[in-house]
Amino acid sequence: MKMVIAGKTQVCGVIGDPIAHTLSPAMHNAAFKHLKLDFVFLAFKVKTADLENAVRGMRGFGIRGLNVTMPHKTAIIRYLANLDANVKFLGSANTILNDGGRLLGFNTDGTGALHALRENGVNPEGKNVLLLGAGGAAKAIAYSLAQDAGALCILNRVPEKAAVWADALNRVFGKKIVGGALSPSAVQKNLQDADILVNATSVGMHPHVDQSLVAPQWLRPDLAVMDIVYNPVETKLAKDAKAAGARVISGVEMLLYQGAVSFQIWTGHAAPIEVMRTAALKQLGRDELK
Ligand code: NAD
Repeated sequence: MKMVIAGKTQVCGVIGDPIAHTLSPAMHNAAFKHLKLDFVFLAFKVKTADLENAVRGMRGFGIRGLNVTMPHKTAIIRYLANLDANVKFLGSANTILNDGGRLLGFNTDGTGALHALRENGVNPEGKNVLLLGAGGAAKAIAYSLAQDAGALCILNRVPEKAAVWADALNRVFGKKIVGGALSPSAVQKNLQDADILVNATSVGMHPHVDQSLVAPQWLRPDLAVMDIVYNPVETKLAKDAKAAGARVISGVEMLLYQGAVSFQIWTGHAAPIEVMRTAALKQLGRDELK
């Protein structure tokens, strides 16, 4: 079916800067078309100085929903009327729903990561998780994983950030969560007891595609490895993990499921995952995960 944009078409979009390489329009427009929903999804480059105007525009134009990406995830909060539990804890939002002029904020990154693991056969319940990084995405993942995981170790280049975050999570979940320095020896040591490894740093991202924080010989077949970097689709860590026989979950899966949660918030419909995955991979220049 051809997509017809007409008088009743509802608008969703993504705001950020830079935004040219976003995969969200491809994923969401494919999903709208598949479900025959009268929606269109656009990308808007919004500079920091224009964020307030953009929010006014959302209300003024009656834009139904927005994804929010760098650098606005924290600054957007002051414009929102209601925040979900993730946003309250993390201090950052990636999804807005315009509910008749009331702007509601959500953070779907952590939920997306959790769905990506579960839908790919990895249940973190009671498991020992090693998380590399304590940036925005890492925090969202830690918050979602901490609810289920048996133990969580967060290693970060700046160890104080990992420690502060581990303390904050322990206060909420009362679980065994530790934070420390991301050194090669700490990765090697903590990996020995881990069931699940998540790389939530930007190491391995284009153009530094030959980099990984994990030596290939530390990886094992009984490990599940999720690298949230999705450009390239298959990072050095993902290739090494696959070669070691580990179960590998690509960053595209997290991107896909965080988008799927946003899609449901805006439309009330369950997202057509396969359609969205195909559209995202096509945009990334690949037709299947290898
Ligand atoms: P951020 O800037 O908030 O955090 C970056 C993290 O990487 C920090 O913990 C930093 O210490 C660490 N880091 C960077 N270079 C490092 C190095 N050389 N050695 C060790 N640690 C290093 O960024 P973010 O928003 O959290 O994004 C991190 C990565 O995750 C990016 O590649 C981003 O594209 C990707 N991401 C993917 C998804 C998804 O849905 N798959 C969602 C959000 C972010």
